[in-house]
Amino acid sequence: MEPFLRIINIPMTSIEKLKFLSEDQVRSIAKQYGTPVFVYSQSEIQKKIDEALHFPNAFGLQVRYAMKASPNVNILKMMQAKGVLIDASSEHEVTRAIAAGFAPSSIMLTSQQFPKELESIVKSGVMFNACSLRQLEAYGQSFPGKEVSLRFNPGLGSGHTKKTDVGGVTSSFGIWHEKLMDVQAIVSKYNLKVTKVHTHIGSGSDPEVWKAVAKYTLEYAEAFPDVTVVSLGGGYKVGRMADEKSTDLQKIGEPVKQLFVEFSEKFGRKLVLEIEPGTYLVALCAALITTIDDKIDTGKNGFTFLKLDTGMDANTRPSLYGARHPLVTVKQDPSVKIEKVEEYVVVGHCCESGDVFTQKEGGEPITRPMQTAELGDFVVMEAVGAYCSAMSTKNYNSFPETQEVLLTSTGEIKLIRKKQEIPEIYRNEISVF
Ligand SMILES: *Cc1c(COP(=O)(O)O)cnc(C)c1O
Repeated sequence: MEPFLRIINIPMTSIEKLKFLSEDQVRSIAKQYGTPVFVYSQSEIQKKIDEALHFPNAFGLQVRYAMKASPNVNILKMMQAKGVLIDASSEHEVTRAIAAGFAPSSIMLTSQQFPKELESIVKSGVMFNACSLRQLEAYGQSFPGKEVSLRFNPGLGSGHTKKTDVGGVTSSFGIWHEKLMDVQAIVSKYNLKVTKVHTHIGSGSDPEVWKAVAKYTLEYAEAFPDVTVVSLGGGYKVGRMADEKSTDLQKIGEPVKQLFVEFSEKFGRKLVLEIEPGTYLVALCAALITTIDDKIDTGKNGFTFLKLDTGMDANTRPSLYGARHPLVTVKQDPSVKIEKVEEYVVVGHCCESGDVFTQKEGGEPITRPMQTAELGDFVVMEAVGAYCSAMSTKNYNSFPETQEVLLTSTGEIKLIRKKQEIPEIYRNEISVF
């Protein structure tokens, strides 16, 4: 008897479902590779790239992939094959993109930290996006007369939490919009040629917000007559859970396109639009297959917990900002039919109280209705293509880096990153005893 089992009346139809894998594929990948394992879908990624390449535009479009979202070489190569350029967030990402085969001229560096090797990076042909007055000044000193891009903070943001907001007074990203005079002073002091202006304000799907941001960004383009490209950054929100909304690129793009047309009528300049999606291109295109390692409960006023064989070392988004990912039960035995729904708190394998996959922002655990799951069954965590593998608390508790496989468009499974060997975790340590 299981006295604490909470069987509830939630219709099966409201339970999250697998997005691109079949149950048989889940079982066979788990059997062949073991769990946990990230599975990326080539055709889903290609679909998203095609959608981005059809973003409405008046006088041309450039799409940059914000590679920090998921930098595996194979994903970078899929981007390159379709003519997508690179947004690098550090000088090391520049190195990584070049190693993957990108020409330096197809990379723009937008870095919170001023690059320590700026000279060689810029000399190789990478475009620099100055994100602060200090960055612009230092760039001007090294490269007087050279072209540069400017990142502005337009004074508004639209992230769904303060932690994903990268615009407005609480954000340190970009040059504050009221400092235009200071920017102009540095630009003329070093005779810099501003050929691009850039904003990136965080995750949002509201056409009104995009229109407002485009309007401000075009004002910066107006202030710098050499600007030919206007970048509106990324932040195109996608719905990971069934009740979350995804951005309709056509809907947010149309009013933006109109503003570019008006700008050209007013100033006779046909500006190219640039967008920099990270999330949009990959978030929904990967799943993490995990196995239930334990199932416990905390009594009749408590909860039933599912402990997975993965944790914040593979996906830290729930711990970091209460992000929700679909959690789908797949029975180990294909002949078992599930028709019950239970409420679970789903936790990771790290010895850290914050390693909970079902929690509110701030840490309070919440339950998730799922199809009944037992030890040895699989839980597939969906929509883990962006900021999961790339942003995890990797190696915490000395868990190895999680393996990654690719489901190719012809239906094959290929290993694209092997599970880390344990000695790799402590390889850089130097014993002095
Ligand atoms: C992270 C980042 C992006 C991508 O943001 P998403 O929310 O993943 O679309 C784009 N541009 C810049 C400058 C970034 O730092």
